[in-house]
Amino acid sequence: MNAPTAPSAAPARRPAGRAGRNTELPEHLKAYKGVWVFIEHDRGHVHSVSWELLGEARKLADILGSQVGVVVLGGNDEPLEAYAAEAFTFGADKAYIVHDPVLKGYRNEPFTKGLTDLVNKYQPEILLLGATSMGRDLAGSVATTLLTGLTADCTELNIDPASKALAATRPTFGGSLLCTIMTLAYRPQMATVRPRVMAMPRAETGRTGEIVQDTLGMVETQIVTKLLDFIADAHSNRINLPYADVIVSGGKGLKNPENFKLVFELARVLGGEVGATRPCVQAGWVEADRQVGQTGKTVRPKLYIAAGISGAIQHRVGMESSDVIVAINTDPNAPIFDFAHYGIVGNALQVLPALTSAFAEHLAKARRQVA
Ligand SMILES: Cc1cc2nc3c(=O)[nH]c(=O)nc-3n(C[C@H](O)[C@H](O)[C@H](O)COP(=O)(O)OP(=O)(O)OC[C@H]3O[C@@H](n4cnc5c(N)ncnc54)[C@H](O)[C@@H]3O)c2cc1C
Repeated sequence: MNAPTAPSAAPARRPAGRAGRNTELPEHLKAYKGVWVFIEHDRGHVHSVSWELLGEARKLADILGSQVGVVVLGGNDEPLEAYAAEAFTFGADKAYIVHDPVLKGYRNEPFTKGLTDLVNKYQPEILLLGATSMGRDLAGSVATTLLTGLTADCTELNIDPASKALAATRPTFGGSLLCTIMTLAYRPQMATVRPRVMAMPRAETGRTGEIVQDTLGMVETQIVTKLLDFIADAHSNRINLPYADVIVSGGKGLKNPENFKLVFELARVLGGEVGATRPCVQAGWVEADRQVGQTGKTVRPKLYIAAGISGAIQHRVGMESSDVIVAINTDPNAPIFDFAHYGIVGNALQVLPALTSAFAEHLAKARRQVA
């Protein structure tokens, strides 16, 4: 890959602002234009968060009057052009592709070099990554290498009308407040967003874009980590909460892990997944992968049934984008009723089994009619 065209040394990126505050964009960084998304893929599959981010990137680029670019890094035999073609249908205008043997399977060093070199060469204004294990690892090292700002785990992305900077909003102070962070004097402005926080954009079949092929300029001997083998975690992907269409979640109102089985039974009959609040996970009632909320998973199912859940803000931020929320709570003043679409004031230990048998009966009747 060519040498960076923009100065990237630390002093040039650190303008001494008034009263020590760096709020002015230095002249040489004003050339940075366009909104980029890093396309995350693993063993033949693009992570849906990349498409979700493309929907946001398109929105931001349209406000700025600029283009949407995607970065696709991978091995020589990986179908990166096919991933780019799909990215075009979700709103990308350009795809920057680097095929190299050292980019087969994610490793921090070559991916950091690949992404930072492309940023220095093509100078995007905004760079978005998924807040996944890979995205979090990569975003941090790219931001520190480029000496720019990174806002992690954003829940909203906008363009500040006055400064035209990326206004990246995320929960703070334990989720009790939302703060909006702007990187005014550095470029690119970086942000990560968790899967399912942003809506999936609609694909536009037949939409195309431009492909730019680049090179990496790194050899295996320069990389300290080696990828010897891929050993699948038997438990990974077993619980796919973020992408479930139906979720039945339980909270402390269920009183004990035995009662939590009522949640599993209703989820089974509805063909859905089981979620939980943090106290239930902390008490060891269910696996950590089932936690919904600020420090758990963000979900957007078609139906979210919340049983014995108070609706604390840290839980709410993880599930309030669900299409339909049904809350079951003994307390008519529980905060969950403020944002649930349907509320059942009642004892979850009685309501859950009643719903399970009603749905089971309804499904059996529907099956009999089909047969
Ligand atoms: C930094 C930080 C991060 C956090 N992250 C998360 C997170 O990611 N996810 C999360 O969930 N929480 C998180 N929390 C915890 C959060 O603040 C709440 O404490 C938690 O969500 C409450 O869980 P709950 O609703 O199960 O329990 P409770 O608040 O105890 O509510 C139980 C509810 O059940 C009702 N109830 C009681 N008996 C019955 C019954 N028989 N039938 C029906 N209803 C009944 C009660 O009226 C009550 O509303 C976080 C907190 C902090 C400080």
